[in-house]
Amino acid sequence: MTRARKTEGTDRMNADCPIVIAGAGIAGVSAAYRLQGAGEAPFVVFEKESYIGGYSRTIRRGDFRFDLGGHRFYTKKPHVEEVVRRVVGDDLLEVDRTSRILFGGRLINYPLRPLNALRSLGLRGAGKAVLDYGAMKLGNLLSGDAAEETFERWALNRFGRHLYEIYFKGYTEKTWGIPCARLSADFAEQRIKGLSFREAVKDAIFKKGQDESLVRRFLYPRYGFGQIPDGMAASIREPNRILTRRPVVGVEHDGKRIRGVVTESPDGREERQPCCEFISSIPISALAGMLRPAPPSEALQAAKDLRYRDMVVLTLFLDAAQVTPDQWIYVPSQKIGFCRFHEPKNWSPEMAPPDRTALVVEYFCQQGDETWSASDAELASRAVEDLAATGFIERDWLHDYMTFHMPKAYPVYEIGYRQSLQTLEDYLARFENLYNVGRNATFLYTSSDHYIDMGLKAAENVLGHEHDLRLIGRESGYAETLSKEE
Ligand SMILES: Cc1cc2nc3c(=O)[nH]c(=O)nc-3n(C[C@H](O)[C@H](O)[C@H](O)COP(=O)(O)OP(=O)(O)OC[C@H]3O[C@@H](n4cnc5c(N)ncnc54)[C@H](O)[C@@H]3O)c2cc1C
Repeated sequence: MTRARKTEGTDRMNADCPIVIAGAGIAGVSAAYRLQGAGEAPFVVFEKESYIGGYSRTIRRGDFRFDLGGHRFYTKKPHVEEVVRRVVGDDLLEVDRTSRILFGGRLINYPLRPLNALRSLGLRGAGKAVLDYGAMKLGNLLSGDAAEETFERWALNRFGRHLYEIYFKGYTEKTWGIPCARLSADFAEQRIKGLSFREAVKDAIFKKGQDESLVRRFLYPRYGFGQIPDGMAASIREPNRILTRRPVVGVEHDGKRIRGVVTESPDGREERQPCCEFISSIPISALAGMLRPAPPSEALQAAKDLRYRDMVVLTLFLDAAQVTPDQWIYVPSQKIGFCRFHEPKNWSPEMAPPDRTALVVEYFCQQGDETWSASDAELASRAVEDLAATGFIERDWLHDYMTFHMPKAYPVYEIGYRQSLQTLEDYLARFENLYNVGRNATFLYTSSDHYIDMGLKAAENVLGHEHDLRLIGRESGYAETLSKEE
């Protein structure tokens, strides 16, 4: 599933047996972009929706543009940045980053730096944090147990109970919908920089007054993040194609290779496309259910056990020139339904007209729950109430609104997920010509630059390279924030 495989003699890629890519999100179009550049291998992309870009697309409504939750572009991979610079060209802006988090009615800079976090506690709070941290260290020493299977344990070991409860517990549980004691420590290892209370103290002594978050920058396309997948898709030429409104509903195999992909045409008919190589960005659990013949029950059960976090994104169009100077505002309070909002015009001036603005509000939820099922009007009225009560907007600024329901926005690293994932991956590894790429196909929670990289490298493997796709997104030194960001 992950290594390079030379196409068998009988399976040479040709117009009758092309490379098939499932999904035209950023991972799928990156694969298509690389194959188009190679010029020789015919391919077809099947996308179930009527648009391309997946969750990386930018929506346009009148004079407004917005992402489905603001998407900054950030990478340490020069080859990925080069691709993005090439497709976006002169429209790629460098944006100064300003984000804050609302704690007890005060906005403090975000991502939280240890010094920042301690300072905002005041003298008494900081003293309590020190005592708690000392007690935790002593307790670990006496019990000899500092195992870190859960996120809760991971955070307690580094920060002590006081800091953990203030800065981690509420926001994390609101975001993921499960107690921190059921969230795997993998989440922290992958997404959070190796910070600790010790670092906080060192920071306080040696780097007085420095706040990295204020000097950080990121790249952002002038007309929204969607310019990246759009730019890649625009390079696709006949005979290669991207077909939208073409869900993949079946994946045929002979036990060793994927032999054909079944799609549903817009008039409801099933159509079979033979394929010699299959690059899939379909959620890994959904893919398992599409295999024909079906996998053993153990693999199907493993697929069912993988859980995702869903979202509703609500955009409020406001009769006000600007609400904040920030890109994102994080809201950990359990009393407020949303976790975060962003103001697109602070990312690029082209995202809203000069005299008006929009806020894009993120609700984390599960399909079918109260938030997911709320009417648009209900959600908009709740959001306006909360934003007005916290002093961000006036109630009568609301001009219009729209919502997007986003199933499977994030893979959930719930305790036990690793075994389920492993079972499923072990089963899928038998298919020599299957390459899983992207967030939900790999069940890897990271940022888009890695999904772009997966798409590019899966395409290169099809062409004969030998990249190990499993390593992508797991490189060390990548996690960089004190809480979830993307
Ligand atoms: C709120 C939010 C904020 C984010 N912020 C950032 C950020 O700041 N920076 C950053 O780098 N990343 C960010 N991300 C991550 C980014 O959106 C995703 O990483 C990226 O979109 C994943 O791309 P993908 O191609 O793997 O998946 P997707 O975007 O999900 O694309 C998969 C595509 O496959 C299609 N598909 C699924 N099933 C089928 C099927 N059966 N047949 C055919 N097609 C199918 C889907 O319709 C979709 O178009 C954010 C994500 C969210 C949710």
